[in-house]
Amino acid sequence: MPNLPDHQGISQKSVTLGDSPNPQCAQPIRLRGGVDYLDSATGELLHRYTTARESDGVLRVACKTRRASRCPPCAEIYRADTYHLIRAGLTGGKGVPATVAAHPCVFLTLTAPSFAPVHARTLRNGQVRACRPRRDGGTCPHGRPVSCTERHGTDDPRPGEPLCPGCYDYAGSVLFNACAPELWRRFTITLRRTLARLAGKTQAAFSREARVSFAKVAEYQRRGVVHFHAVIRIDGPDGPATLPPGWATIDLLTAAIDATAAAVIVTTPAADGLPSRSLRWGRQHDIRPIVADGQLTDNAVAGYVAKYATKAAECTGTLDRRINPADRLTDLPIRPHARQLIATCLRLGKLAGLEDLRLTAWAHMLGFRGHFSTKSRAYSTTLGALRSARAEHQRQHAIMTRRLPIHAEDTVLVLTHWHYAGRGHASGESPSAATTSSRVPAFPAPSPGGS
Ligand SMILES: [Zn+2]
Ligand SMILES: [Zn+2]
Ligand SMILES: [Zn+2]
Repeated sequence: MPNLPDHQGISQKSVTLGDSPNPQCAQPIRLRGGVDYLDSATGELLHRYTTARESDGVLRVACKTRRASRCPPCAEIYRADTYHLIRAGLTGGKGVPATVAAHPCVFLTLTAPSFAPVHARTLRNGQVRACRPRRDGGTCPHGRPVSCTERHGTDDPRPGEPLCPGCYDYAGSVLFNACAPELWRRFTITLRRTLARLAGKTQAAFSREARVSFAKVAEYQRRGVVHFHAVIRIDGPDGPATLPPGWATIDLLTAAIDATAAAVIVTTPAADGLPSRSLRWGRQHDIRPIVADGQLTDNAVAGYVAKYATKAAECTGTLDRRINPADRLTDLPIRPHARQLIATCLRLGKLAGLEDLRLTAWAHMLGFRGHFSTKSRAYSTTLGALRSARAEHQRQHAIMTRRLPIHAEDTVLVLTHWHYAGRGHASGESPSAATTSSRVPAFPAPSPGGS
């Protein structure tokens, strides 16, 4: 170890200058400070970067959000990465052999059950259909019509909203969102078992011959409940590079998915005034084979998954941030349906027995606290691998612009001293005001003697 002047500021990875600067980022993190590069054997200062050298004295690091509502340029990078990642699992590339395209593979949509009739805008042959015509008409127990014959326009806010809020099962909706990740987890486990059973194999024999990979994305329906789209593929025992066994067919996969989707249940804990209930997938699920010359092309699936990977609940008219204790629900600029879903999260969040669902913290997401896109390890490459390829490109750029030294990384010790200087593009706000943001990254404390 070299004799360092001060150890406080040592951090290899908190911020790397080769990291994406994405100049288009709408809400960059602004940093003041610098980095010293020392020879790890001798402690000799090889290179010093300080933000004083930047035109306005701060370095902007891209926010890297996946959410298009927060930063479209960074979300676009995330979307493109997700696209390539999904596509590699369908057609090969990025280290996945092209033979993967011949493996049995389907695109599955799992929906939530109904929580009461909602207005709908659907098209048939390019024409908007009547919303929910019921010839026998009549009214619900709250005196509202159970039929809607309107043809809702694109700017009509009602599609996705209940015909009668009094009839709508708000508790069921937010509990479903809260349990959807667990429902999905059980689905993946049960699907493997069901495949083995239908193939006439023991679990152990199945794992010796085949492996099932998943890549899924969550999407909010307009009614404020999540549903999942997933690519499901059967490989040989060692993943995409190995041939699946002959018995692994699209028909077998489809039959196993049908059986599994109908069977999986999550039971919520009983709470004060709220009995335990069993949650399951909606009866309508959609399975489409992904084949090279089929109706559903690899590119379409990859594009679809990637598009939803950058969306969140705000698409259903809720808030893009957490609800604070200071928020008055009635003042929030949202539609009554979203307000009622949030209010239900806050109400159920207080019930003893439901703490683990963390409904209060995730009220703005209408109860869903899962990941928007996930995939099993063997699906294809990883976002990390895609990013490191880009980071290397950016590292070269940083060397060209003298932010980084030319030395090999393993012989260099990096001593950083960053100060958080705010968020966004404007400069000059006080750091103390900016650090109230909930998204302040954990940079190392400023080290006064650190350089
Ligand atoms: Zn950004
Ligand atoms: Zn309607
Ligand atoms: Zn009603």
